[in-house]
Amino acid sequence: MYYEFTVSTKSYEELIDITHNVKSVIQRSAVKDGVCIVYIPHATAGIILNESADPNIKRDFLSALDRAIPKHAGYLHDRIDNNAHAHIKSAIVGSSVTIPVSNGHLGLGTWQAIMLCEFDGPRARRRVVVKIIASD
Ligand code: ZN
Repeated sequence: MYYEFTVSTKSYEELIDITHNVKSVIQRSAVKDGVCIVYIPHATAGIILNESADPNIKRDFLSALDRAIPKHAGYLHDRIDNNAHAHIKSAIVGSSVTIPVSNGHLGLGTWQAIMLCEFDGPRARRRVVVKIIASD
């Protein structure tokens, strides 16, 4: 089953918890067992699993990435649209995560949340694709 939803981002860089969006897709799908792939079809955004309860994790994650991949550090691509760091961060964090579905529930750990990573916002419409593959 294939689903899509969109997310509006509000900042240049931010992490947005989309766990509730994905859970509602799982419920609507009526799939009890299988795998769920959450994928973002954008070159300057990403998808990760991590803690969302403490908002400082989001800030620490973005600042650590920024120390590793600073903005506007003489990248050749910046001559085109000034967002080379966002492309590199997107590639490093990745565009998808795969989560098991058991008894109709996402198999996330207690402190795991699904988060959209915005690296070149704000964007009115970031698409998120959810593909559910049933094994039952
Ligand atoms: Zn670009």
